Amino acid sequence: MLRFRPHHFLCSLGYQGKGYSTRFTANMDDIVFGRLGASTGEDTQIEVVGVSDDICSPCPHRRGENCDKPDKIAALDRRHAEHLDLRAGRVIGWHEARERIRRRVTPQDLDVICEGCEWLDAGMCKQAVAKLHSE
Ligand code: SF4
Repeated sequence: MLRFRPHHFLCSLGYQGKGYSTRFTANMDDIVFGRLGASTGEDTQIEVVGVSDDICSPCPHRRGENCDKPDKIAALDRRHAEHLDLRAGRVIGWHEARERIRRRVTPQDLDVICEGCEWLDAGMCKQAVAKLHSE
């Protein structure tokens, strides 16, 4: 089972190989392309957590179970958790997570729920949500 903090569901959907360091992207490649993108990836079970998770593990910004930008990350988590109705302790499959994003998130919503993220202006996360709606 994977462990994701709330905002990492959408980050995983939008991930296209860019990240904070070589170790970070290698781990993210393994999670997003290797596990969630595998033929059985939609069955992957993911536990929602309120601390650093499987994506944070090799991140150069991680400080133990927290982050060197704790206020920014807490705000991202709070907005994504409210928008997706996800709470710490919940276990959800990747298929259901994608359906939940499709039902509850539009590309324009990211301007609000992802405010402050340095990857927002790159556009790939909005594109991924738009693609999900078109499938
Ligand atoms: S804009 Fe940032 S926080 Fe929002 S989904 Fe993309 S990477 Fe995650």
